[in-house]
Amino acid sequence: MADYKKAIPVPNDLTKDYWEGAKQHRLVLKRCADCGRYSHPPLPTCPRCQSEKMVATPVSGKGTLYSYSVMRNAGNPGFESEIPYAVAIVELTEQKALFTVSNLRDCPLDQIKIGMPLEVVFEDVTPEVTLPQFRPARKG
Ligand SMILES: [Zn+2]
Repeated sequence: MADYKKAIPVPNDLTKDYWEGAKQHRLVLKRCADCGRYSHPPLPTCPRCQSEKMVATPVSGKGTLYSYSVMRNAGNPGFESEIPYAVAIVELTEQKALFTVSNLRDCPLDQIKIGMPLEVVFEDVTPEVTLPQFRPARKG
């Protein structure tokens, strides 16, 4: 962990519940207490009903692969040893068009399929920061 070379997220007021949840190995999104809609990345008000009652809510961590891109250049420091690797747009099961972006772990590039079931895993990168990542869902 001490030699982690990639950029480290810096939580702010809007994102701190997400990062605190990740540290506890839970995927935590903001959900509107008035209409029930999740929004991610987190916003200060609900995009559907403009409520300001956005509540940190754990979700299942299950989703499907909506789209992806294969990175073949290390555009950011620290990724040199991983190229080529896939970055996924994951549609979470809780709500249509509820997306999160993640590295796609544990999946050879030639086995990636749009619509494949995915599940969250947690990578503890420093003592303070854990990254939610996605991999193919395991049976059972
Ligand atoms: Zn709402």
